Amino acid sequence: MDCIFCKIANKEIPSSIVFENDRVIAFRDINPVAPVHILVIPKNHVESVQHLNEEHYDDLKEIFKAIKEIAVKEGIDKTGYRVISNYGKDGGQEVNHLHFHILGGETIGKLRCK
Ligand code: 5GP
Ligand code: ZN
Repeated sequence: MDCIFCKIANKEIPSSIVFENDRVIAFRDINPVAPVHILVIPKNHVESVQHLNEEHYDDLKEIFKAIKEIAVKEGIDKTGYRVISNYGKDGGQEVNHLHFHILGGETIGKLRCK
């Protein structure tokens, strides 16, 4: 499949990996918008939050366990962080493989939708 995040998960494309287990991989965003900007993805391809169903729930469990662990490793578990997953045109999704952005290391500006 021609999916850039599948290629990252398969190590066909290099990335700065910060966490990995059987189901999940996390790596630094190539174009960070905060001092800590990490993308957490399931190794199994699924397009977005809107495409999730029961077969993905074990992956989701591991993703949220990973987010907590990464936050501790990155030293942002006390100061806080934001988790974002974009879907579709209006959500501004650019890569069609489910991913959760972890943003931290400074105060993240409030969302301004307009
Ligand atoms: P989206 O807009 O789909 O929520 O976020 C996609 C994110 O993936 C963007 O923040 C973008 O910088 C990041 N990204 C796109 N291509 C690559 C890549 O090849 N490597 C890494 N590490 N990040 C990427
Ligand atoms: Zn993929």
